[in-house]
Amino acid sequence: MNIQFVDLKRQYLLHKSGIDRAISEVINETAFISGKYASKFEEEFSQLYGANYCVTTANGTDSLYIIMKSLGIGPGDEVVTVCNSWISSSETISQTGATPIFVDIDQNYFSIDENQIESKINNKTKALLVVHLHGQVCQMDLIKKIADKHNLHLVEDCAQSHFSEFSGTKAGLFGIAGSFSFYPGKNLGAYGDAGAIITNNESLALECRRFANHGSLVKHNHVIEGINSRMDGIQANILKYKLKYIEEWTEKRIEIAKQYTSRLKSIPQVQCPIIRPKSKHSFHVYQIEVEKRQDLQEFLKLKGIPTTLHYPTPLPFLPCYNHLKYTSYDFPVVFEKSTKILSIPIFPELKNSELDHIVNSIESFYERKSKA
Ligand SMILES: *Cc1c(COP(=O)(O)O)cnc(C)c1O
Repeated sequence: MNIQFVDLKRQYLLHKSGIDRAISEVINETAFISGKYASKFEEEFSQLYGANYCVTTANGTDSLYIIMKSLGIGPGDEVVTVCNSWISSSETISQTGATPIFVDIDQNYFSIDENQIESKINNKTKALLVVHLHGQVCQMDLIKKIADKHNLHLVEDCAQSHFSEFSGTKAGLFGIAGSFSFYPGKNLGAYGDAGAIITNNESLALECRRFANHGSLVKHNHVIEGINSRMDGIQANILKYKLKYIEEWTEKRIEIAKQYTSRLKSIPQVQCPIIRPKSKHSFHVYQIEVEKRQDLQEFLKLKGIPTTLHYPTPLPFLPCYNHLKYTSYDFPVVFEKSTKILSIPIFPELKNSELDHIVNSIESFYERKSKA
């Protein structure tokens, strides 16, 4: 058996006629950048999400950058964020000229430890950027209280949490703005780079749209200098087609995660993901914590099962932050956890036979180990 970590081809083949039609429609109308198809997607995405405004962008990294620039974050400011994420969440803070201030993760959920946030806030702090990693929403009731108390902008990185929920509210709707990525492997994935911003704040939506379009809302009237970050029509129309299936696909992920957990939880060397109470985890990633990780990874590879790490090196320990001289004592939880984590394949089209093979292989690895 040869399983893909995310099998994009399998999904394409199941939806070939719809996707091909979506692409050729755009080509027939030559509506390549922003325009009609991006607007249609914005309308449908914001409606389905329950947000007042959606601004499409070129990718999820830009979405974060555009939000922060439009909030006026810049040199001298600090933005408190989590130490365990994809580089985009700290990279874009630095790109505004502000400084990312990292917070360790909590013991259970791999998201920002809400109890440590306040100790990092000072008079330079302008915003809190939280990341709903793996599809698991952060403890947003407490985090929103902290943001309100200190008068901070609350920004949510939803690149991995499309349609996740906490306490009945969707990820991205707790703060001033939610940032989305539609990178092909994401839960809602384009056929190239694409991103979006959602917000209920009209003036922020306008600022974002202007900044993303060279600082202009009306052609040739550049009120500020901006950037070029727009969604192309082909991506927009593919995403609009895929939007019809996102709820079904999310439920499928949740179902697969349930099966994994029910079958893996009896293995003493494996810790399955813990779902935060009152939340809907959309399982962009199914991550376990394991013993003898490297041996297990190699064993699974021989069985045709790819695995990966989210993430092998926590942000503060990446070479680009060497100058900050962080040590394991600064972020002890993520430091320890990062040696045990392992992400196994999850995508809506994963077959039962593949799931069986993955579970059986993990079981047999530890059975053999205990006999050896
Ligand atoms: C994918 C991702 C991004 C960036 O998205 P791109 O569209 O690839 O730029 C940002 N944050 C997180 C947590 C992500 O997983």
